[in-house]
Amino acid sequence: MVREVNVDFVLESISQLIEQREIDNMHYRHSLERFLHLWEIPIRDAMKRFYAGNRFSLAGTLTAQSHRNSLLEDAEYELPDGSVHDGWHSLDKDRRTAACLLEQQRARIWALGQLFVTLAPHSNDMHFVTYAKPSHQKRDGNLHRFNASNYRRTIEGALRQVHRDFPDLTAIGTIEISARPTLKGATFEPHCHLLVHGVPEQPLRSALAQLANGASRAVMILPVRTLQQLGERLSYLFKFIPESRVLYERADGRTGHGHNLMTGEVFAEWLAWLSRCGVDELLITHGFSRRLRREFRETEMKVLVGALIESSRQMPPRG
Ligand SMILES: [Zn+2]
Repeated sequence: MVREVNVDFVLESISQLIEQREIDNMHYRHSLERFLHLWEIPIRDAMKRFYAGNRFSLAGTLTAQSHRNSLLEDAEYELPDGSVHDGWHSLDKDRRTAACLLEQQRARIWALGQLFVTLAPHSNDMHFVTYAKPSHQKRDGNLHRFNASNYRRTIEGALRQVHRDFPDLTAIGTIEISARPTLKGATFEPHCHLLVHGVPEQPLRSALAQLANGASRAVMILPVRTLQQLGERLSYLFKFIPESRVLYERADGRTGHGHNLMTGEVFAEWLAWLSRCGVDELLITHGFSRRLRREFRETEMKVLVGALIESSRQMPPRG
């Protein structure tokens, strides 16, 4: 096991390799798994620079994936064949579904590397949008009726309308499903988070409120002003957590908000939904070249890792 690596030395050498375009030759001799084992610690260090809560462990991801399978057995549910990778070796061969923890890690590495570099020039002037239209909610047992492609087209349609007045508009985001426990089960709450540049807050807010039939509380917008905020928000966009939102009564009588993880049948239904779509179907994009989606699906891991290590150097190191 390669545990004793000098991270600064590795960062230095990989960026030189990228400059010299020798990274391909250097690593073709190794399998993808070997490559990832060599770079596991630098990848983890790089991801933590963007957000201290980011995790990356090759063995840990595989353990979590098999643990999930046993949780599903308890709910008498089984993922369809081929929906998740059974090891890191196949990550460059084909795309599995959004239910796969390895695909989720790959998506995060892409987001904090290649995508971060694309967005960084605008990091001083972006909006972080959360859009949650109540009518998209589904009772448990009905989540299969929520269609990611239709939802994506609706949001991208609204962005195209904003684009008419603001031709510099760019937006990227992800579709996410959280749950809220009810007396008998749960209500699923599909929503999306977007990073938007090129439009003032007000017209963006009113376009999205219009999409929610005037429900202004369906739209929340926060400013992004720094590279650090961009890194944190991108980490948030690609978190893929089965989040259960709970409301509780606080000691002062007001309502508090908390987060748990989904369990049992609710978790199984959430994961079953994810196992029917690819991560790229959860991606909302506007204003980027068509290549962005293709590159997301096809770029090899060693290139994604190289971009992550490189981009992380724009972030301050974390302890
Ligand atoms: Zn969310």
